[in-house]
Amino acid sequence: MWSDIVKKELQGIMGEQWVKDDPQSLVTHSYDGTPMLQSLPDAVIYPENTAQVSETLKVLSKYMIPVVSRGSGTNLCGGTVPVQGGVVMVMHRMNRILEIDLQNLTATVQPGLNTKQFITHVEGMGLFYPPDPSSMAISTIGGNIAEGSGGLRGLKYGTTKDYVLGLEAVLANGEVIRTGGKLMKDVAGYDLTKLLVGSEGTLAVITEATLKLVPPPKYKKTMLAMFKDIYGAARTVSSIIENRIIPATLEFLDRPTIRVVDDFAKLGLPLDMEAILLIEQDGDMESVERDIARIEEICRSEKAERIQVAESEAEALKLLTARRSAFTALARLRPTTILEDATVPRSKIADMVLEINKIALKHNVQICTFGHAGDGNLHPTATTDARDQEEIHRVEAAFEDIFEAAIRLGGTITGEHGVGLVKAPFLEWKVGAAGIEVMKGIKQAFDPHQLLNPGKVFAKSSRKRVVIEHG
Ligand SMILES: Cc1cc2nc3c(=O)[nH]c(=O)nc-3n(C[C@H](O)[C@H](O)[C@H](O)COP(=O)(O)OP(=O)(O)OC[C@H]3O[C@@H](n4cnc5c(N)ncnc54)[C@H](O)[C@@H]3O)c2cc1C
Repeated sequence: MWSDIVKKELQGIMGEQWVKDDPQSLVTHSYDGTPMLQSLPDAVIYPENTAQVSETLKVLSKYMIPVVSRGSGTNLCGGTVPVQGGVVMVMHRMNRILEIDLQNLTATVQPGLNTKQFITHVEGMGLFYPPDPSSMAISTIGGNIAEGSGGLRGLKYGTTKDYVLGLEAVLANGEVIRTGGKLMKDVAGYDLTKLLVGSEGTLAVITEATLKLVPPPKYKKTMLAMFKDIYGAARTVSSIIENRIIPATLEFLDRPTIRVVDDFAKLGLPLDMEAILLIEQDGDMESVERDIARIEEICRSEKAERIQVAESEAEALKLLTARRSAFTALARLRPTTILEDATVPRSKIADMVLEINKIALKHNVQICTFGHAGDGNLHPTATTDARDQEEIHRVEAAFEDIFEAAIRLGGTITGEHGVGLVKAPFLEWKVGAAGIEVMKGIKQAFDPHQLLNPGKVFAKSSRKRVVIEHG
């Protein structure tokens, strides 16, 4: 239980000004990027280094006080809402780049480092860190790691998990562990690094990360392909991959999204199209030109109505804006925007989009869909109003159907946003009862008193499924 004694002990570790329990601090850390979820913590703290995190966790475990690690709170699964009260530990003060090792091509950083600042810094040194969540202007590297974030470049370059080589983390009891390192090969025991990636603050607090850097691509080309037939767009995605071309970016926008994006960004997009693909290839000039020419051929053979290849960097940026502004544009439509995240095998993209449209109609809700077509990772986004309880019930029922459809098509309930609070009741659909038991065993080994981000990932009860066949 939070008390003046605990507060004094933590102030002794971090200094008085870094332990806050005034109403304003509590309210501002009672919610995150996920709409409609809120719960007050007892305190908000700001450690400066690993030793302070370790000492803090010793105190909190002595008094059995829960702790939620927090980067920038941009997660969309309620991952940082302190549902059981306790302490929110904000990592923003631990935001330094500790080392760029040019011989090993690694960066060692603290978890509170802003993702975009990091990417810009390494690019300034002629290096490349590919993971690029759309939220990178605000998100932190620690949040990206704990959430296992992906982004527009995930198809060709992989996601955050492919770039984390080693971690320093503090266990619930305050002990510090180190996993992996500056190593390209390491099979010493279980892979704790990979286990902590995507663990959503439930296993340990990440205090340092060693990340892989790669040489940057020399040349880049961007294009839009516009289709009246959604299946034509989907077949184009499969055909590009079948032709053994892996674009750097292969993104999808459906018709409702095209309309709102165009209205927002004034890009002059054709409003009578069913789907747009945003395609980017990078590499050396010759192979990029060859790939883009072949992709154009594929788009034409799938009856693309229009193809627009950017002639300059400014034009490429304009095309990218169409995709990057999707969330912002949709957020203007109604007071509440619920951006979800379901993934299917990429051959099932068209089926999934049509399924989403049918479900939206069935529940009489507005859902626009965009996402990473190359990865099969779609973001059906409901524009709604949290004050209308009846409509919110319909939205929730629609999303339940959408997750069900994703699993039926051989997919998953989340491709990159994590489980957190929102998807916890659906996790068993994906991993099965035995899978949940194994995961609970792992949680027990790391955090026997259930103090780290309690209430996340594991739900009190799982949602019943009508369909039990896994596609
Ligand atoms: C507009 C928008 C676009 C987005 N686009 C993408 C996208 O393209 N791809 C994508 O994958 N996600 C996306 N997201 C989701 C979100 O931005 C990512 O999950 C991001 O990685 C979260 O980073 P954060 O710093 O905000 O972490 P937070 O939201 O603060 O935390 C996320 C999780 O990590 C845990 N955590 C944070 N720091 C630590 C730490 N040091 N140690 C242990 N656990 C920790 C938290 O407890 C929580 O469970 C988007 C979100 C928004 C709002």
